[in-house]
Amino acid sequence: MSKSADGSGLRLVATPLALSQLALDNQQKAAIAHRGSPLIIRGATGTGKSATLVEAAIDRIRGGQDPESILILAFGRERASEIRDAIVLASGGTVQEPVSRTFHALAFSILSMQSGDAYRETVLISGAEQESFIRSLLQGNIDDAVTWWPTDLRAGSEATMGEPLLTQGFIRELRDLMMRATERGLTPAELAEKGKRLGEKFWPAAAQFWQEYLEISANMDSGAGDSKMRIDPSEIINSAIAHLKNNPDLLADLRKRFTTIMVDEFHETDPAQRRFLELLAGNDLVVVVDPASAIGRFRGSDPDGVNQYLERTLPTATTITLVTNHRGTPAKYAVELRSEAEEAQYIAYQIKRAHLMEGVAYKDMAVILRAHNTTATSIRRALGQTGVPVAGDREAIASNASIAPFLLLARIAAGSEKLTLENCERLLLAEFGGANSISLRRIRTALLKARYEATDTRTGTQMIIDAIDKGDIPIAEGDELRRVHTLLAAARSSLRKKSASIHDLLWAIWSNAQNADNQLIKDAWERAALRGGARGATADRDLDAMVQLFDSAARHIDRMPGSHPRLFLEEIAQENIVSDLITAKGIRPDVVEILTVHSAKGLQFKRTFVAGVQEGIWPNLKQRSTLLGAERLVERERHGEDLAQTTLDLITAQSLAEDERRLFHVATTRATEQLHITAVTRDEDSPSAFFLEAAESDDFTATTFDNARPLTANALVASLRRALRSSKSVEAAQLLATLAQSEISVADTNNWLGAHPISTDAPLFDEGQLVPISPSAAESFEQCGLKWLLGRNGGSNGDSTAQLLGSVIHEYARLKVEDSNATDEFLYESLNNAWPLISDSAGWINKAQLQRAQKMLERFAQYHRTSTRDVAGVELTFEFELGNAKVRGSVDRLEVDKDGKYFVVDFKTGKAIGKKEAAENLQLACYQLAVVLDKFEADLTRTGENPEVSGSHLVYLGHTAKDVTTRERPPIDVAEVTSHIENIATGMSSPVFYAKKNKFCGTCPVKTSCPVHIEGRSVIG
Ligand code: SF4
Repeated sequence: MSKSADGSGLRLVATPLALSQLALDNQQKAAIAHRGSPLIIRGATGTGKSATLVEAAIDRIRGGQDPESILILAFGRERASEIRDAIVLASGGTVQEPVSRTFHALAFSILSMQSGDAYRETVLISGAEQESFIRSLLQGNIDDAVTWWPTDLRAGSEATMGEPLLTQGFIRELRDLMMRATERGLTPAELAEKGKRLGEKFWPAAAQFWQEYLEISANMDSGAGDSKMRIDPSEIINSAIAHLKNNPDLLADLRKRFTTIMVDEFHETDPAQRRFLELLAGNDLVVVVDPASAIGRFRGSDPDGVNQYLERTLPTATTITLVTNHRGTPAKYAVELRSEAEEAQYIAYQIKRAHLMEGVAYKDMAVILRAHNTTATSIRRALGQTGVPVAGDREAIASNASIAPFLLLARIAAGSEKLTLENCERLLLAEFGGANSISLRRIRTALLKARYEATDTRTGTQMIIDAIDKGDIPIAEGDELRRVHTLLAAARSSLRKKSASIHDLLWAIWSNAQNADNQLIKDAWERAALRGGARGATADRDLDAMVQLFDSAARHIDRMPGSHPRLFLEEIAQENIVSDLITAKGIRPDVVEILTVHSAKGLQFKRTFVAGVQEGIWPNLKQRSTLLGAERLVERERHGEDLAQTTLDLITAQSLAEDERRLFHVATTRATEQLHITAVTRDEDSPSAFFLEAAESDDFTATTFDNARPLTANALVASLRRALRSSKSVEAAQLLATLAQSEISVADTNNWLGAHPISTDAPLFDEGQLVPISPSAAESFEQCGLKWLLGRNGGSNGDSTAQLLGSVIHEYARLKVEDSNATDEFLYESLNNAWPLISDSAGWINKAQLQRAQKMLERFAQYHRTSTRDVAGVELTFEFELGNAKVRGSVDRLEVDKDGKYFVVDFKTGKAIGKKEAAENLQLACYQLAVVLDKFEADLTRTGENPEVSGSHLVYLGHTAKDVTTRERPPIDVAEVTSHIENIATGMSSPVFYAKKNKFCGTCPVKTSCPVHIEGRSVIG
């Protein structure tokens, strides 16, 4: 699109395709001029075969032939429309469009060419829908306990019977076998008979299933009362053949109409497609063939048999072989990298550099992979971070992290997923939930505290489920729960509408979802996308994925009108529903494509990056269909049934290896200027033989990558800021100012973290104000001032199970002393009864935790039994002032020895500390000081004099040693502890707090806000 000449609006500009822009050589001219007999055009990649086909069509049209009498058959919808557009463009837009179709599209339209009462609209179901249908039939087989599936395909026990049949792998294999058999014109009975004869033990069962599948599909109605005929991809060509044979008039009409038939990439045809072509084609037939670049064997094509087929069926054909390489020879690089991340960075750097410094358009560059895998994800991320626009994510929509929670909510609303704790947490942690791991714990604890009555014995888990499910939210601080519940209610309400579709459901969720700032998420994403930067790129990608989701839903409604939304949700969870390439290009033309080699077929780019050429990945020599043997069926059909098993295995393996080599050939012949192939060498990862062959050949320059500064505004601003800080560079300051004026937001000092003046340097407590200190806070401050500061201001973990357990054990310790009826057995039983309130885990984790808790209680009982001192009191509170410190706390237990001296006991449920550390323990010191100063609420004076302490210890109930483990702190030096606490109070009232690395940093709840750790550095700036 570009501005119109008068600047008043936009006008559409067609992009000329490269296909017919070549200078034609003699062979091409001969092929274009050829008439009178079938023509076979051969030639390697880049010799202009397709361009010749296009020119041959134009030549006929210019000679007066009706464009609509020319039928062009291509592989892939996009390829078909490219050829059609190329013909129209190359003729200056003066010709009518010829008919350019895929084999499937042609068969599909022929099936609709019926007349009379028997007419039914035909709907082609997708692979995912077909698999979903197979799955439901298999489930029926299991429910009906059909006997034809061998026991090998069923798990041993009653409980698990049938499960192997329902795995995605098995369903795919079954679908493959049925498709390959259909393409080869076999019937279920023939497949069963072959299976028996050839020792393929699962084929008879698969054949029975196939028969059932055919019968049910024939009778199947959508359930919505429409009159559509659904047909799956494997049947469509055979059905069209049968239809033509049953309607000779229709066949004669078509033969009369299509006087010329041209087939692009004939090597990708399967036997059924060839039979279909034989029916339709007359004398003016042009086929383009290059078996070396066939990649469709996994879809049933037969590149190995194509030459014999052509010799047999077109004995009078003329063959012209094209030899001139029109694509040019690109510079070739084999780049070995040290990690997948480095591989992604290399590709992002090269693409950005080519665009910025050499003016290569993004759409002229592509990344090609063997398959979508983690390499695709890391490359996509690196491109996004570098600011390179990438075409819509062609990975599964369901695996998009931002979309997945919306789908989960939809599945729960539709009843195909249960509201478990795990799902509740996933919803709460989603953007529309707005929770994080800390707030989740707080919510749970708040819910437990808010149980209405003593009879309410629900667990925290049940309360969270009830909150989301029924809106039963008895706490004020549960906004996260309220948002998720409201959204779920909106989704459920959309389904109550008559004939609610998947679109209604998705729209109810998407249009109502709000984030923690009460903004609609759809508006928030849109605003972020328009702002740009890394967040903008993410929002852009997420919006793309959401659009794809709605597109897929719309296609599903077209195909299966009236079906329950659950069906779509099931399919999308099982299948990679990928973006539509044409749509993606239409929305953002100048974008880099990340393509699988199958989707790169037939395309051409200035620069390509063939990535992930790793051992085990490319070539991928793993047999695809080992159990049901669709590949063995294909090879036996091609090479004869008498093959010995070992020969067959060899042929299958060889075919697979050839397939992989052809795929690599296709991937490495897409570039006109530069080709980069990349692989990683690290630990167990190594480049594959394909990469090594290329790297060692003279055609390639073998190279590595020295990390260069990413070509992003962020990285540039960071280096300018460094230069400004280290050398006060005036140029750096000027450049930053220029960038800021050009609205590069990261260069604007207002947006720099740490660039703003400190909001206050006032001390935390005013002069003369008392500083409240608990013994545990004093210890925390001792470890690290920042941890204490952030902890007292919200940066602490909520109550975990461990903390709840600690409180419970302490409570029992109190009970044991204060209630003479509290026997050990009574305590054990109470713990068991209360356990569901304490732990939210399930299964063996729950069991293990309960056992641990029981052990703690036993150890406490043992301690209580064996202690030689009397118990003076438990949970005794104290308060005293020292300087500007107001120390307040409570001691777990005070014991008194035979000399009347007090001994402080502190119970611990965590790990034991070292003896030396315990000897200086500040908590115990505070307790002892409270005793010596006689500051307990309870009266400790026994002799009329100030109480004395004989020492203190920590008692570790959770320690695994046989006996109860203790750690001693001897009697304190009162003056020393007093001054220590006064110093802490002074430190706590300071305006400055320091982060002090210590051995507890690993479990510190505020580590992500701590400047001494990489995780938190950016927060402080
Ligand atoms: S991570 Fe370590 S240094 Fe940082 S705040 Fe926590 S305890 Fe202090």
